[in-house]
This record gives sequence, C-alpha cells and structure tokens, in this order.
Amino acid sequence: MEKFNLDGINRGSPVSQCPTCDRVFSTVANFDKHSKDGRCIYPEDVGLSLNEKGIWRKKMTAEQEMRIRHHWQK
Ligand SMILES: [Zn+2]
Repeated sequence: MEKFNLDGINRGSPVSQCPTCDRVFSTVANFDKHSKDGRCIYPEDVGLSLNEKGIWRKKMTAEQEMRIRHHWQK
C-alpha cells in the first residue's frame, strides 16, 4: 500500500483522498475516474499521473506543463 505524506498539501485546496486505497486526487472528478463499480483502478490506467506532492492529477503533455508554468509565472 502506498502511503503519502500529506504535510505538503494545502488544506484549502479541493483534494480528495480515497478511503479505500488512501490515494489523494487533485479533484473529485479525478477521484471518480479511478473508482469503478466501488473498486479502485490504478490511476495511471485512467489517464492520471502522480505529481511531486503525492497527488494524482490529470496527465499532461510536456507542452501543457510548460504552458501552465508560464501561466503561473505571470
Ligand atoms: Zn481508491
């Protein structure tokens, strides 16, 4: 079972932790994606990727990552 350190998570952000597998998702929509018929699917199999804070989020291309970084620098 994977365990994540939750200290780095901003408590005000809308993250969802799965009570079954303890994985943390960036949005409820991403949480829903990994849950099918009451069972947990490995998030990578539904197009999610684990970020450096231990949160599963939508997998992005390198180009999308760059665009977001550029956006936040403004
Ligand atoms: Zn789960």
